[in-house]
Amino acid sequence: MSNFRFKALEIAQSRQAIPVVAPVERVGDFFGSNTFNNEVMRALLSPEAYLKVTEAIQTNGQIDRAIADEVAGAMKSWATSKGATHYTHWFQPLTGETAEKHDAFFDITIDGKAIEKFKGSALVQQEPDASSFPNGGLRNTFEARGYTGWDPSSPAFLMDNGAGGKTLCIPSVFISYTGEALDYKTPLLKALNALDKAATAVCQYFDRSITKVTPTLGPEQEYFVVDRALFYARPDLVLAGRTIFGHQPARGQQLEDHYFGSIPPRINAFMVDFEFESMKLGMPVRTRHNEVAPGQFEVAPTFEEVNLAIDHNALLMDLMEKIAEKHNLKVLFHEKPFAGINGSGKHNNWSMGTNTGVNLLAPSTRPKESLRFLTFLVNVVKAVHDNADLLRASIASAGNEHRLGANEAPPAIVSVFLGETLTQALNDLETKSEVTVNKGDNVYYKLGLNRIPSLMRDNTDRNRTSPFAFTGNKFEFRAVGSSANSASTMIVLNGIVADQLNKFKTDLDGRLARGEKKELAIVDILKEYYANSKRILFEGNGYSDEWVEEAARRGLSNIKSSPEALGVYVQPESLALFERTGIMNHAEVESRYEIELEKYIKNVQIESRVMGDLAMNHVVSTALKYQNKLAETARNLVELGMTAEAEPIKDILREISTRVMAIKRQTESMIEARKKANNVTDTTERAKLYATEVKDHFDIIRYEVDKLEQIVDDEDWPLVKYRELLFVK
Ligand code: ADP
Ligand code: MG
Repeated sequence: MSNFRFKALEIAQSRQAIPVVAPVERVGDFFGSNTFNNEVMRALLSPEAYLKVTEAIQTNGQIDRAIADEVAGAMKSWATSKGATHYTHWFQPLTGETAEKHDAFFDITIDGKAIEKFKGSALVQQEPDASSFPNGGLRNTFEARGYTGWDPSSPAFLMDNGAGGKTLCIPSVFISYTGEALDYKTPLLKALNALDKAATAVCQYFDRSITKVTPTLGPEQEYFVVDRALFYARPDLVLAGRTIFGHQPARGQQLEDHYFGSIPPRINAFMVDFEFESMKLGMPVRTRHNEVAPGQFEVAPTFEEVNLAIDHNALLMDLMEKIAEKHNLKVLFHEKPFAGINGSGKHNNWSMGTNTGVNLLAPSTRPKESLRFLTFLVNVVKAVHDNADLLRASIASAGNEHRLGANEAPPAIVSVFLGETLTQALNDLETKSEVTVNKGDNVYYKLGLNRIPSLMRDNTDRNRTSPFAFTGNKFEFRAVGSSANSASTMIVLNGIVADQLNKFKTDLDGRLARGEKKELAIVDILKEYYANSKRILFEGNGYSDEWVEEAARRGLSNIKSSPEALGVYVQPESLALFERTGIMNHAEVESRYEIELEKYIKNVQIESRVMGDLAMNHVVSTALKYQNKLAETARNLVELGMTAEAEPIKDILREISTRVMAIKRQTESMIEARKKANNVTDTTERAKLYATEVKDHFDIIRYEVDKLEQIVDDEDWPLVKYRELLFVK
């Protein structure tokens, strides 16, 4: 078996970078060339159809049948002219993967002739065999069928399947027959719509020309890359996406020499390759660099409208996996593929932009706009404060559980970082004594709102340990897991901010009705909001033990386990919030909760099985063989009369025995715990048992196995070691 490790190493070490033909054209010449974008539509559609489609995109409106037929025709001729043979509705079911079902563009007539076919009806709606997608009981309650429906706001694109033929992918929603959401996109679109409405209404107090607010997202994607041969020599990576065992290398990330260091040639070739393909698909990938841990990297696109950014991120992850294969590499999107080394996140940079071109979270030099900025800022802080647990729920998964709130920092506490200067500005606002404004006074100056931009100008402080940080003109939610679909988080974040802005409007309208002056009323409300939510603000080191204690004193939640975190989704206040913002009804939220729990259970179950198998069939068996070798050596020494010299060897023999026994005992007890959990029918209870009684064995078994790794002869050890996975490039 150990041969397998060394064979894999030999292959990995002998590999060279695969040359990539860099594009000769300028980016502008190929950017978006594989998308059915605005330009293509303008060229191929009649002016009337073009207008209707762009209008529908702007207003989330309907597209009628005749227009759909015309668009379908244009899409088909565009796609086939570029080598497409098939089309598919491309959607994001709650498995967390993307889904496709390819249909050929042609049909066979009764007399056996092939004719090209793709009608508006096929563009607008499809009925995939949906029975294998998770629905959390929704389809049992309602209808067995599921439908996918075209989302015109995200451009269709061409996917190259490698060997021959391309597929036209049409971004779609996935819903049940009775209209319940079975995917991520449907509630996301509703949440974005809710935010648009609420934020636009608030903007109206400041600027009548603002009629639309678009939430924006720039997801920074972290990932690890390992050689393909080494990957396949680690059953835990293959089956669970992370290493379940592995002793930390002598040289980890202590030196931090990998961060922004030069990118290894094989990885660089892979990056150039997927970036080129991404740009052809209209994805604005912009930044590439090494991350803190060895073998870890990041790709960041320029921000886009949230729905599009999420489609692009899902597509980018797909593409990266495909292109990595070409370079004999494997991308690891798992949140914590290696213990003791930094995990991976998907930092969700988020803000809101107006139709007038204003970023609502960007400080302004104009005092009047400062008040608008503070209004949005404080409302976001309050929304996060009041719904911190729901935000925590939105990032809960088996993978992220290893990254947040586990043995290693950071903790699973939601806190907000604003930076010293901004916090100071808010403190001033709060403590300012009653301002009296006389006729002719400039109210903004009296309120000190002229000072904020100058306070902000030098605000370059960055806090990389904060889960939710203000970074100059946007918030960065860093606690999102690298493998997650950002929609879960974006549904919650946009939903809670929309809800909060609605409350603000109600509060303000109440005061205005009582005849209060608008600016003073706004400041009063913001003061109150700030006072009630400032305990969530934290400027210090979010990874320190002191913060965990301090947060507990402040009464902030620190929900470590995923099932517990997910439970917040179905609490009455959450259900009510989703309902009143029109994002999801009770049944939809409950089904999502079920699905997330099931996913959690399955993940932990797989890890537990892989762990049992590796521990007994790889590690213990290897240790016993090695023990045999040692016993033989000890016997020989004794035979030669070297009894004293045999003693240290006997010590090692004893240590191996002790560890092997512990592993065996713990593995058996873990299997028992699994059996017990599997017999529990209630999903919530079963998930809890997996999170505690099953998972509690993981660290104990791992500890013993990692100790054995240090004892057993390197020649015999069957699993590719951390230093090999991380440093062989
Ligand atoms: P960092 O120093 O954190 O790397 P960057 O300026 O590189 O910061 O931005 C990181 C991400 O934030 C990028 O994807 C960028 O497009 C995105 N971003 C910038 N402005 C906004 C915005 N207004 N809304 C959403 N995302 C934004
Ligand atoms: Mg960042």
